[in-house]
Amino acid sequence: QRGAESVQEILELFAEVCATHEAELGQLDAVAGDGDHGQGMVLGSRGAVEAGRKARERGAGARTLLIHAGTAWAESAGGTSGALWGSALTAAGRALADDAAPDSSAGVEALLNAVEAVQRLGGAQPGDKTMVDAAAPFAQTLDKQFQAQESLSAALAAAASVATEAAASTAELKARLGRSRVLGEKSLGTPDPGATSFALLMTALAERLK
Ligand code: ADP
Ligand code: MG
Ligand code: MG
Repeated sequence: QRGAESVQEILELFAEVCATHEAELGQLDAVAGDGDHGQGMVLGSRGAVEAGRKARERGAGARTLLIHAGTAWAESAGGTSGALWGSALTAAGRALADDAAPDSSAGVEALLNAVEAVQRLGGAQPGDKTMVDAAAPFAQTLDKQFQAQESLSAALAAAASVATEAAASTAELKARLGRSRVLGEKSLGTPDPGATSFALLMTALAERLK
């Protein structure tokens, strides 16, 4: 299953990026949250890699692999971002087929579905200082650039760069949702951990698909 192999490689890439940035993400989360965002992302992405590996052993295609990986991410990570990333992976899988490798438009559809799932499940609006502040402009840019006949890799590069800027800009916001809401004031000046990790993963994905 060629599609499953590419998807598994992306999960492995995500796990690598989460491990590299574990401490930094934990420090961001410690400013106004409970400090476990780096750990949650590492556990979640590792759980997803493991579930993906098992699914591939059973001959799963891209769709089934991602649906299982999403469940495993949520279970392994715990926490808010774990549930959101889990639903994102599962939603991405639902845009793909098991019997064909994802083409560019399936790839875009998967990413847009993933962001939509995060918005639906978390209910956050732009400006609440969450992952959505990076994910929403990412999805808008990806959709727009891809529809403007750009290649997946060009559209994704543009979207990842928008996400990176948007994640940095969350420093100017006060948290209104999640654990950080109690300490919203304290979060001023520090970017949101979930928006930061989202931008890091999408940047790595864009680099990989270049
Ligand atoms: P927890 O808050 O359970 O400890 P994490 O520390 O792993 O989980 O994740 C915190 C991140 O989750 C926040 O920085 C924010 O980006 C994201 N988050 C929290 N609530 C929401 C929500 N309702 N919608 C989208 N993202 C959210
Ligand atoms: Mg936390
Ligand atoms: Mg926590």
